[in-house]
Amino acid sequence: MKQRAYNFNAGPSALPLAVLEKAQKEFVDFQGTGMSVMELSHRSAAYEEVHNQAIARLRSLLSIPDQYEVLFLQGGASLQFSMIPMNFLSSGQKAGYITTGSWSEKAFKEAELFGEPYHIASSKENHYRDIPALSELTFNEQDAYIHLTSNNTIYGTQWKEFPQTENVPLIADMSSDILSRPIDVSQFGLIYAGAQKNLGPAGVTVVIIHKDLLEKANAEVPTMLKYSTHAKTNSLFHTPPTFGIYMLGEVLRWVEEQGGLDVISQKNEKKANIIYDTIDHSNGFYYGHAEKDSRSLMNITFRLGSEELEKKFLAEAKEAGFVGLNGHRSVGGCRASAYNAVPREACEALSEFMVEFQRKNS
Ligand code: PMP
Repeated sequence: MKQRAYNFNAGPSALPLAVLEKAQKEFVDFQGTGMSVMELSHRSAAYEEVHNQAIARLRSLLSIPDQYEVLFLQGGASLQFSMIPMNFLSSGQKAGYITTGSWSEKAFKEAELFGEPYHIASSKENHYRDIPALSELTFNEQDAYIHLTSNNTIYGTQWKEFPQTENVPLIADMSSDILSRPIDVSQFGLIYAGAQKNLGPAGVTVVIIHKDLLEKANAEVPTMLKYSTHAKTNSLFHTPPTFGIYMLGEVLRWVEEQGGLDVISQKNEKKANIIYDTIDHSNGFYYGHAEKDSRSLMNITFRLGSEELEKKFLAEAKEAGFVGLNGHRSVGGCRASAYNAVPREACEALSEFMVEFQRKNS
C-alpha cells in the first residue's frame, strides 16, 4: 500500500488508520450478520446497539450530564445555523452573537431571518486574528441565547475558556474542535458539531442540548427541524446516517483507547506547537495569522512573505506529499489542520519541510 498521506485537510480530514482498518475488516460482514452496517435496518437490534453505543461513548468521553440529550442529525453544522434561531428565536426577540470568523457570521445571518441577532463582540476589525477577552463581554438577561464558535477553522483562532452567561443559554459551534480537549458541557445550553473533523466522516451532526432549552423551543417549526422530534425518538425519527454513526462510534472508541480527552489534548498541544515553534523561529519567514494568545491548536494558519512564495511553498509541499495546506479559498495563505487523527510524525515532517524550504529560499 502507498504510504498514508500527510493529511492536513481542514475537513473532511484525517481519520485514525486503526478505525479505517477496523471498518474495512467489518465492511462486508458486520459482526456475523452477513451484511454490512450500511445494509442493516435502522430498526434492527444490531444497528440499535451501534447507535446507542456511539451515544454512550460520547456521553462518557465528554462527561455529558443526564440533563442533556445527545442527538445525531443531518444537514451539517450549516443547518444548525438555521435550526437554532428557528427553534429558539422569535420575531422581535434578541440573541447575542460573538462573531470571530466566517462561520459565526454565517450563523448570524441565518438568525436575522427569525429575530434580532446583535453582535456582543466581533473580531472582524482585527481581521479575525483574535478571540475577544472574557472581560469585554457583557450579556443581556433578556436575550434568547448567546452564540459563539469555539474554534475558527478558517482564521485559526480558538477560545481557551468560555464566558459564564448565567441564565442565558450559551450555544457553541464546536465543529472544528469538539473532542480535541475536555470541556465543561454544563456551561452550555447547546453544543453542535459537524462530524467531519474530529468525529468521523461527513454526514452526521452531533447536537448536545440541555433539556430545559428543549422545553423553550418554538412550536411552529417543521417536524424534521424541531430538536424535540429527534430527542423524543433517540434520533431514530427517520433513517439516520447509519454508516456515519457507526464510524463515529469507532472514532470514539479510538479516542477512549488513546486515553481519553486529557491525553488527546496534550497530544494536540504538542503537535500544534511543533508547527507554531517552526513559525516563531523562522525570523519572520513564516508568520502566523492569529494573535498568539488566540491561536488554535486545530487549524494553524500562516503566511509567507509574498503570494508568489506561498504558491511555491504550496506546490513544493504538495510534491513532497503534504495534502491540504492551502488556506481557505476566502483568505488564501497556508493552513495546517492538525486534528486528533493527524499523527505527530506528520507535524514533524511538515516542520522539517518548512525549515528546509526556508533554507533554500532565503
Ligand atoms: N462551523 C465551522 C466552525 C466549520 O468549520 C464548518 C465547516 N468547515 C461549518 C460550521 C460548516 O459545516 P458543514 O459543512 O457541516 O455545514
